Amino acid sequence: MLELRGVIKRYGTTAALGPIDLRVDEANTTVLLGPSGCGKSTALRAMLGLIKPSEGEVLFEGEPISREARRRAGYVIQDGGLFPHLTARANLIIQPLEFGIARAEAEARVSELSELTSFPRDGLDRYPAELSGGQRQRVALMRSLMLDPDVLLMDEPLGALDPVTRADLQSDLRDIFRSLGKTVVLVTHDLAEAAYLGDRIVLMERGEIAQAGRFEDLRDAPASDFVRRFVSAHRSVPMGAGS
Ligand code: ADP
Ligand code: MG
Repeated sequence: MLELRGVIKRYGTTAALGPIDLRVDEANTTVLLGPSGCGKSTALRAMLGLIKPSEGEVLFEGEPISREARRRAGYVIQDGGLFPHLTARANLIIQPLEFGIARAEAEARVSELSELTSFPRDGLDRYPAELSGGQRQRVALMRSLMLDPDVLLMDEPLGALDPVTRADLQSDLRDIFRSLGKTVVLVTHDLAEAAYLGDRIVLMERGEIAQAGRFEDLRDAPASDFVRRFVSAHRSVPMGAGS
């Protein structure tokens, strides 16, 4: 569905990303995981065609990524990126209207998606500042789905949320990904989130892939010391005797 082939992205003389070869499978959730600065966002932006690689190529369904292909991708960033001066509803319908979709049709899509994302209907006419962080991210998710994209790319969409809101959204996201059957690429630095949401985890280290596979593969057969340390750094909370 999406492929990075021999991609390198340099800023000046330092490589922010690559060389990296990565294939994203259709109807699967691929998680780009790794410490801050390892190149996750750069990889995601390269997939979206928002940055041009210094070397290598990005393929969308086997073809070089184009403007047309970009339209078929939904993008969600950490703070949601909503327009603060527009209501949630206006944020949702602005792009569909620009693309010539009729207002009634766009409004119908808003109803459908607020159902899907469990967003309260009375929140639709509020401004982003009048919504909670979790609600804003639900709106950002809805907005990315308005045009029914083939792929959904999310860059730390839950990063700014408190743990309870985050856990709620994680479980809703998992249900949504499953029910939509879309190709999803999600960036996180949180191993538990990656394990919970990802069919496949791509653990990155300094711009390259340290290991790709299921969570169990990384846990049980770490490919390097870095992978071992990354997995063991995310200790779970001790539950005490008998639990
Ligand atoms: P991550 O998302 O994993 O935290 P990024 O992809 O944002 O990492 O960044 C990877 C590396 O590239 C970092 O060292 C970062 O400082 C560098 N970088 C990212 N964007 C730019 C830019 N526009 N100019 C210069 N360096 C950049
Ligand atoms: Mg990032």
